[in-house]
Amino acid sequence: MAELEQRGDRAPAPSAWEYESAPESREIVKLEERYGLFIGGEFVQPRSGEYYETLDPSSEETLAEIPQAAPEDVAIAVKAAREAFTDGWSAATPAERAKYLFRIARILQERSREFAVLESLNGGKPIRESRDVDLPLAAAHFFYYAGWADKLEYAFPHRQPKPLGVAGQIIPWNFPLLMLAWKIAPALAAGNTVVLKPAETTPLSALLFCDVLRQAELPPGVVNIVTGDGATGAALVKAEVDKIAFTGSTEVGKAIQRELAGSCKKLTLELGGKAANIIFDDCALDQAVEGIVNGIYFNQGHVCCAGSRLLVQESIYEPLIEKLKRRLTTLRVGDPLDKNTDVGAINSRQQLEKIEELVAAGQEEGAEIYQPPCRLPEKGYWFAPTVFTNVAQSYRIAQEEIFGPVLSVLTFRTPDEAVEKANNTPYGLSAGVWTEKGSRILWMAQRLEAGVIWANTYNRFDPASPFGGYKESGFGREGGRHGLEPYLDFDGAEAFGG
Ligand code: NAP
Ligand code: MG
Repeated sequence: MAELEQRGDRAPAPSAWEYESAPESREIVKLEERYGLFIGGEFVQPRSGEYYETLDPSSEETLAEIPQAAPEDVAIAVKAAREAFTDGWSAATPAERAKYLFRIARILQERSREFAVLESLNGGKPIRESRDVDLPLAAAHFFYYAGWADKLEYAFPHRQPKPLGVAGQIIPWNFPLLMLAWKIAPALAAGNTVVLKPAETTPLSALLFCDVLRQAELPPGVVNIVTGDGATGAALVKAEVDKIAFTGSTEVGKAIQRELAGSCKKLTLELGGKAANIIFDDCALDQAVEGIVNGIYFNQGHVCCAGSRLLVQESIYEPLIEKLKRRLTTLRVGDPLDKNTDVGAINSRQQLEKIEELVAAGQEEGAEIYQPPCRLPEKGYWFAPTVFTNVAQSYRIAQEEIFGPVLSVLTFRTPDEAVEKANNTPYGLSAGVWTEKGSRILWMAQRLEAGVIWANTYNRFDPASPFGGYKESGFGREGGRHGLEPYLDFDGAEAFGG
């Protein structure tokens, strides 16, 4: 803390903590110079012959070359998935399918350090988070859905659940392995086969996952991974698949919905958010401050359900903001592989530019900016934790998803006003409520238009709990028994009259 420079703001000086750096070793990760597409259980070179470089966003160092799959590569992957579906996977006993899912879960646990280091290296997120959140949750998802695989007829009694066939799955870069687990685990448990496209900037954990599939002896073709940019994703949407599951931006989600309109392909969309984290004056203030920090600075704010709009009851506005600013001065921004790091690197130059643009818009529109004093590394993509006060609801920083470590603070006087402001958004993914009164939590939860509402906590995930949105945040649920439904056909239901 000694090197911190005090800026011209009223935040109290941080207490004097010195941290030795504690970097996690990269040795455990063995990178290939060039990867292939994972199709039919083998790594194959792309027909396109094209590759791109994937980076470490904290240093801009090239990590490996990744295939850019062309539409014909995607078609080959879909064919492999179709053959695997008809040649055995759909007819495998449910307990047999569960066996593979349990194996995958256990191997992910055994190799969790290797995956955590790779996830931080390729995505920029702090090792503390990839180690303590991404990896345990990814394994937990496979364990959870392994448990459902042989109980589908009990999960959906009298509805004769059947797999759909081939699922095309497209995932973003903010939780690369975890989003893969959210997609693949329920699809396989329900008896489908899969073609998955990871995000362009974070393909490495999905490619290492192929090694886990081989170790688990999953039959070839049941899971196929095609890498590439948005054009590869668009090719997968157009391919001969039975379902598309997409997580990413609302813009691309809308384009996919247009593309699939009128087709028989099923669709689930998990899109953006602009969640309200609502703080009432009777809450436990220090806990709320921790919840606010976790809500917006976790994973650099690259979180669709991030608590990016803070709604504070007017009576506690000043003490709360003071405590929050003081807490921000203790956040350590830097090397994602350092175990002390709280806020890592921004995932890509493109995302950094988007954050910078919206922050500049916030300043131009008249909001007041606060950033704690912190030295950002010279190379790589970085953005200091930021709080905007004096924010009006009409400002872009109160309306648009920033997807970065930027919090916009608004105030309210009554619960009704809090609800009105919280719902004043095209999104509806999540919300947080901080109050000591249980009855108020329930009152709020009934009125907030959000798929997930946390009370006196934030960003808590569990595989047993369904997750998904309202309005422009998308439709369909992932997690829980609900998460199986989009991967099943219930045609037999009519025979039972229900
Ligand atoms: P995105 O373009 O929607 O990316 C999501 C996934 O879709 C990626 O795998 C992407 O490939 C792929 N994709 C892109 N264009 C496609 C198309 N036309 N058809 C099919 N698939 C396509 O999101 P982004 O560009 O990474 O981020 C943009 C903004 O989206 C962020 O700033 C953030 O606001 C929001 N976002 C939300 C979430 C979420 O969890 N809800 C996650 C990430 C981003 P590429 O990687 O090549 O683009
Ligand atoms: Mg994109």
